[in-house]
Formats: sequence, C-alpha cells, structure tokens
Amino acid sequence: MSTHELDLLENALDSLIEALSKFEDGEEGEPKAYKFAVLHVAHFIELIFKHHIASKHPLLIYKDPFAKKLDQNKTIGLWECINFINNEDPETVSLELRKDLEWIKRLRNEIEHHKFTMDVPQVRSTIGRLFRSVMEFLDEHAGMNIEDHIPEYAKETFKILSDEYKFSIRTAIKAADEVEKENPIDYSSDPDADPARLECPECGHYTLVLNEESNTGYRCTFCENEESDELPGTCDICGVHTTQEELDYWPMDNGGVEARCYYCSGRHRMDKDD
Ligand SMILES: [Zn+2]
Ligand SMILES: [Zn+2]
Repeated sequence: MSTHELDLLENALDSLIEALSKFEDGEEGEPKAYKFAVLHVAHFIELIFKHHIASKHPLLIYKDPFAKKLDQNKTIGLWECINFINNEDPETVSLELRKDLEWIKRLRNEIEHHKFTMDVPQVRSTIGRLFRSVMEFLDEHAGMNIEDHIPEYAKETFKILSDEYKFSIRTAIKAADEVEKENPIDYSSDPDADPARLECPECGHYTLVLNEESNTGYRCTFCENEESDELPGTCDICGVHTTQEELDYWPMDNGGVEARCYYCSGRHRMDKDD
C-alpha cells in the first residue's frame, strides 16, 4: 500500500469510529449527536471509496492522472468513485445504495448550510441501511473486513448498525422507552395504575407498551403482538384490578363476555372443595 492509501484508510477509520460514538450519544438521548454521526458517516464513506479506488492504482484518486503535470490538489470525490465502480461493473452499486448515498449527500449539505431539520427515526434507519450496504460492498468488492479495525469499546455499536435484526430490536426498545416516558406512572397516588410497559411473551423483549389503537390497549413495538397474560384487567363484578391471567371470561346472554376474578368466578370455592 502506498502512503496515500494508508492515510485514506486511517482517516476513513477515524471518521467511522467517531461516527459510531456520535451515533451512540444520539441513542442515549442526545438527538443533536445524530447530526454529527451523519457528517462522520458521510466522511467515512467518501474516504473509504477513495481508498478503494486508490488501491486499484494510486494515481486514480487524482482528477487528471493523465495530465503532463499532475495537480495533487485536485482529487476525485465520492461520485467520481461511484461512477468508476459503475463503469467497471454496472451491477456493483445497487440502485438502493445509490439512493441512500444521495440522501446522505443532501443531508450533509443541509447540515453544513444549517437547513437541517432532524427526523430522528428517519435519520436512524437510513444511517443503519447505508451502513449495512457500504459494509456489504466493502466486504464483497474490496475484500475489506472493517470490523477487525474497530476498537473494542465501539464494537457493540458497530454490530448493532451492521445487523438489521439487532438494529430493529434496538429501534423497538427505543420506541418503548418513549412510550414509557410519555406515560409516567405514580403508584403512590394510584396503586392500581396500569403499567405502561411489559415484557412481550411473543418476542421476549421488554417492548409491550400502551397503544391506543390496540384492542387490548397494548402493542409490542417489536413484533406487534397485543396479548399477554400480564395485561391489566378488571373484574366486572367486584371491580378488583388484576391481570388477564387471573380473570375468567363468562359468556353473557346478550352475546358479550363478563370478566370475573378468582373469587367472583367461583374458582375460589371450587378450589376449597377439592
Ligand atoms: Zn413482541
Ligand atoms: Zn371479582
């Protein structure tokens, strides 16, 4: 590797590590940090693609490698790299990756010109998608395994961003955090208050939260399940607050059902008789 190539790679990795750390700050509740994550990711992508081109021939990163006197101040940008890769093999850069690259370019521009309005969920999901497709590209077409270069403290964030499944769990947990924050419960003033958040029995994540659109009043932010034995319930006869698990449902003459607790359903008496 030439010195220039090494510089590009090292600088690219620095930007990436910086991006990971800003992304993590964003995740921990500092929304402005996502903005810097976008800038660092954009910088990383530009440098790593330049590095990829330079690895084919070190002169290729200059705007005019065929000039009589090489102008070392004029180097290529991200789009020239993408065009080069595309000219080599039109199948390499997917339409989707290209669209996401255009998105980050636009965003970077808006940030630099202070016209940026943050849509956190959109920024998060696009950073994640872009990150995965760039890693896939580097792995498949540049034979580069970036993970080996990530320091231990940033590895977890790297893994979450590289793995769609892990990323979606993190997203669901964040959404559940939000619902919990919006529905503070004060058990000292209302000991029977319904919980805002429960563990989902379907997917096992702590993501079953209050949801007005749900028939049960709860929906999992990960798997959309709406049921759990642990959901709060009220006995229609004595009004006691309990969980669904503790209630029996009795069909009524009018076609509806009546929820009855352990005592009102007669189970208590039956258990005693046994
Ligand atoms: Zn679930
Ligand atoms: Zn009862």
